[in-house]
Amino acid sequence: MGTESATPVYLRIAISIPLRKSFDYCLPDDWQSPPPRPGSRIKVTFGNKSVIGVLLYIHHEKPAYKLRAIGEVLDYQPLIDPHLLELLNWAADYYCHAIGEVFATALPARLRQGMSANKSPVYRWTAVIDTGEQQAKLANAPKQQALYQFISSSKDGRQEFELNANFVNWRAPLKALEQKNLLSQNDVSNKPSDFHYQAPDYRLNPAQQKALDTLIDNSGHFMTLLLHGVTGSGKTEVYLQSSLHMLQQGRQVLILVPEIGLTPQLVASFQSRFATTIAVLHSGLNDRERLDAWLSARDGTAKIIIGTRSAVFVPLQAPGLIIIDEEHDSSFKQMEGFRYSARDVAIKRASLLNIPVLLGSATPSLESFSNVHAGKSTLLHLPDRTGEASHPDIFRLDLRGHKLTGGLLPHSLKTIKEEIDHGGQVLIFLNRRGYAPAMVCDSCGWIAECHHCDIRMTVHRRDARLRCHVCSHEIPLPDSCPDCGSNQLIKLGYGTEKLEDVLQEKFPDAGVIRIDRDSTRRKDAFQKIIQSVRSGEKKILIGTQMLAKGHHFPQVGTVIIVDADNGLYGLDFRAQEHMAQLITQVAGRAGREHRHGKVYIQTWHPDHPFFEALQSQPYYDFCHKLLKEREVTGMPPYSYLALLRVESNQMTQTESFINQATQALKELAPPQLEILGPAIAPLERKAGYFRMQLLLKSAHRAELRRILSQWIALMDNMKSAKKVRWSVDIDPYNLY
Ligand code: ADP
Ligand code: ZN
Ligand code: ZN
Repeated sequence: MGTESATPVYLRIAISIPLRKSFDYCLPDDWQSPPPRPGSRIKVTFGNKSVIGVLLYIHHEKPAYKLRAIGEVLDYQPLIDPHLLELLNWAADYYCHAIGEVFATALPARLRQGMSANKSPVYRWTAVIDTGEQQAKLANAPKQQALYQFISSSKDGRQEFELNANFVNWRAPLKALEQKNLLSQNDVSNKPSDFHYQAPDYRLNPAQQKALDTLIDNSGHFMTLLLHGVTGSGKTEVYLQSSLHMLQQGRQVLILVPEIGLTPQLVASFQSRFATTIAVLHSGLNDRERLDAWLSARDGTAKIIIGTRSAVFVPLQAPGLIIIDEEHDSSFKQMEGFRYSARDVAIKRASLLNIPVLLGSATPSLESFSNVHAGKSTLLHLPDRTGEASHPDIFRLDLRGHKLTGGLLPHSLKTIKEEIDHGGQVLIFLNRRGYAPAMVCDSCGWIAECHHCDIRMTVHRRDARLRCHVCSHEIPLPDSCPDCGSNQLIKLGYGTEKLEDVLQEKFPDAGVIRIDRDSTRRKDAFQKIIQSVRSGEKKILIGTQMLAKGHHFPQVGTVIIVDADNGLYGLDFRAQEHMAQLITQVAGRAGREHRHGKVYIQTWHPDHPFFEALQSQPYYDFCHKLLKEREVTGMPPYSYLALLRVESNQMTQTESFINQATQALKELAPPQLEILGPAIAPLERKAGYFRMQLLLKSAHRAELRRILSQWIALMDNMKSAKKVRWSVDIDPYNLY
């Protein structure tokens, strides 16, 4: 292309830096081949560093600045297909985020580092026709024999995931079999994995069938379907059978889940139903595993892909359906850096691909319900639990005027005893981990506060630490007051650790287990806990919101919600929605298979209309009411929000930037755009930074987007911006 007659070629490249810009490069003078294709990785010099960028597009308009030539082209075939390129561009634009960082979210680390897009081998072993003599050699080796029999029982042989599912230690016997020349090994990493569908031994109920039929009837085009069904109503079954339909059409299914660690059952259900390789993408993978899973989705060898938030950006070779399980869950929203909503991106992606997207939840978000009202989404309702389980009864317990034990009312203790005496399990929900939420000195009034945040530190007695739950700063638990030296230190309030101690003492034979971030930190800890609950070994379960995520505990007959009030008067405009979801989800755990479940809500405000409404009407109607309130207050989904957050280590800097930014916005914005603030953030100081915020609210998304892009460009160029950290959160999940 170095000849003068050819049209000049300029390459627009995304580079992973926090700037809302992409950069032009040219081809080297001696370039002979056609230019690289968009979506390929290219080495370029940026500043004085060699970095890896992604080619966005090629154009012919000479830029004003002097161009550098590209370096090595890393991908012969573009790594990112045109559809995914379009999606990533859309996301960068919609969320007003640096395009290079958007690409960095989408690419596995190894690809960002420039390694080749090649998969590790995946071995499949097949039995070699053997002589009787060799078979005889196995007579004294039962492990080898069992393994050999398992492998030879399938004429196509077996691969790693099947061996893992059936044997604990199979590598050593496998090696022995290989040495005896009884097995042959092939790399099947590039072979599309086939699947063997194992039908369940029941039929879909009419509601499930209707949901499935609706999805299948609409499987060839974009459509948003909201699958609303209480826990245990058979949503997973609908996911499984709609996936079957897609696989039969040669299509892939992408399933997004809030947290893999908390949803091992979903992965296991897909695994056992389809007996196929499933690409699982989550933060627990090492870089190699992540790359392999990503590449299997991209080349289509994996037909089922299950992943957390960022998996919404995984390349797909033949996408047919996107499923979002627990669609209301806040972990689909990235709260830092590139602040996107995986649910919203998934819907956009489905529309670009012209395929259906299925959102499932026992407690759909208000956004999703309002989409149903607006006709943008189709509601599929599973009203009943499968089998004989019935809906639980909900009771309110008045906290006023009673002596509490570890936060529990005498009546709650009584119901715990009754449930255990009946052979059932009790689930106690307390969304506060640690031992006590505060430590104070009884002599001088000193309160343990974080040095970096405006917040009290939580007592963790098991580890003998005081911890800040905002910035993770921690110190050893003091045994005397740092101010006055007194040893009269009081641990105020109660958290899950304390509740565990109290209940252990009250019910020494019941088996008490605590389920929170602290008790499940170690690998597989969560799985082990779930097992001990399912086996019935533990009768009393204490847990935080982790427990509210899609688990079946069929022996739980009673649920106690220790403190439901923070949902009533929370700062957050979603507080009531969240509390309603939590109560409904937790209540969904109750109801033994053949007995009526009971849910007890302890509250200081038993007469609050919130409880009245939640108790007397189905979740759907309840949400309808909440939506009315949002409409009156003009909050989402009846308006669109953007939140500017500013922080710096000096309040004066934070203030001066946000004032300037507000001024600039006022000059730009039409009068109907609401500007709220600037205001000091609810948590004024966090991890040593002083914080302020400004809220933008508009009834029109397009208008808000137009203003935002102009405004952000202005802020990018403000001098005072250099001294602060600032971000704009589009469709923020919370306002702090
Ligand atoms: P959800 O995902 O809504 O919580 P699941 O799909 O996991 O519910 O179903 C709950 C339980 O009911 C599972 O054990 C499942 O095997 C069983 N199940 C699902 N559909 C049916 C059905 N049509 N008939 C009988 N049992 C069913
Ligand atoms: Zn003191
Ligand atoms: Zn802190």
